[in-house]
Amino acid sequence: MSNTVIPKDLKCVIFDMDGVLYDSMKNHEATWVGCFKAEGIDFPAYDAYMYEGRPGHETIGCVFKEHLNREATQEDKERVYNEKVRLMGMASEAEMMPMMKELIDLFKQQGKEVWVVTGSKQPTLLDRLNGDFGIDLNQIISAKDVVKGKPDPEPYLKAVAGCGFDAKQCLVVENAPLGVRSAKAAGITTIAVNTGILEDEILAKEGADIVLPDTKSLYPYVEGYFRS
Ligand code: MG
Repeated sequence: MSNTVIPKDLKCVIFDMDGVLYDSMKNHEATWVGCFKAEGIDFPAYDAYMYEGRPGHETIGCVFKEHLNREATQEDKERVYNEKVRLMGMASEAEMMPMMKELIDLFKQQGKEVWVVTGSKQPTLLDRLNGDFGIDLNQIISAKDVVKGKPDPEPYLKAVAGCGFDAKQCLVVENAPLGVRSAKAAGITTIAVNTGILEDEILAKEGADIVLPDTKSLYPYVEGYFRS
């Protein structure tokens, strides 16, 4: 594939987690709607995808401002977040996204390093990354490792620093607009897989180098890169 966006000198691939490795966005959508409903806020499911990637406490702050016209206190943030965590605990287990285990194996066979950068701190999924995908625990940047979460570039810059390669030798796979913004601000080529309900243009506008419709179509795209 001569017209691929994947860097010629690729050394490291950095995956987002929710909506890329796990089919977990349906759970995030339902639990955001549920925990805001408890506050009397009619939170649109669509917005769960627009806010995706942002740390939970910041999302709560934004939603309070938008829907209640006031700043959320620390107490508000903790109450709402705790309710979200409680609802997540009752949600059904998220399945692995189609072809992503195969894709990670392919990158590894080709000698590429594989990292994960996520705004999540949900142990239910973070604890599965090693067993499900063979991700080295030292190659995961989660919400606990950063001061500023996505859309700030810090999480992706941390992964670049951690792997020791140049940002130009890395590739990010993201599904969220704010995740794409974060990765592009870190100077990394970014493939967006549009696994949610947003329009492709939203991901393209944030600077995604290419937008693919799902994770299944990513595998042949990458295979083509290695074959050329
Ligand atoms: Mg995501």
